[in-house]
Amino acid sequence: MSIASALQEIKSQLPASVELIAVSKTKPVALLQEAYDAGQRHFGENKVQEMAEKYEVLPKDIAWHMIGHVQTNKIKYMAAFVHLVHGVDRLKVLQELNKQAKKVDRTIDCTLQVHIAQEETKFGFDASELAEVVASLETFTHVRVRGLMGMATFTDNHEQIRAEFMSLKAAFDTYGATRQWDVLSMGMSGDYPIAVECGATHVRIGSSIFGARNY
Ligand SMILES: *Cc1c(COP(=O)(O)O)cnc(C)c1O
Repeated sequence: MSIASALQEIKSQLPASVELIAVSKTKPVALLQEAYDAGQRHFGENKVQEMAEKYEVLPKDIAWHMIGHVQTNKIKYMAAFVHLVHGVDRLKVLQELNKQAKKVDRTIDCTLQVHIAQEETKFGFDASELAEVVASLETFTHVRVRGLMGMATFTDNHEQIRAEFMSLKAAFDTYGATRQWDVLSMGMSGDYPIAVECGATHVRIGSSIFGARNY
């Protein structure tokens, strides 16, 4: 299937209010350009350097989403252009984002990553850490937290996936209602229909658009 028709098919299954982020990590710029030509404007990458290289050569009206684990020493390379940093999973990332945003006279938007999966390996705050970090947000003058991001367990068990997404939605409602949060980033190729049912505002989809990745 072509990239254009894959995008069209996915979009036909998403409510108009849900933002589709095309996850283009490891893919060559020619394929991103193809998606761009089909109308796609939001792209997701998980490595700062790769995102910065693609940013340099592709049209400047693309909104770049950093969806991966953030290394603090790389933040300076994306501070001037990144649209939304999804994977904020420790206080140190907020501190460095704030510092680098100040330097380029911007406010950087981000979401806090919450650990909702059973797997040990997925990053993110747990419930008690989340309460603590949310309480500290006022100290960051150049970072605007807009909501939460999470990844469900990689499993065929839809009820488990649904329960994990619902726990993220509950945290989003708990903390977001008084803060005008408007980003609930959850759902990938394998589970985005469930994420949308659970209230996702942003889905991050890679392989269903660009094909499988070879690392
Ligand atoms: C790679 C990645 C995605 C997209 O995964 P697909 O299964 O290819 O859709 C979504 N979110 C994050 C955080 C990722 O690293």
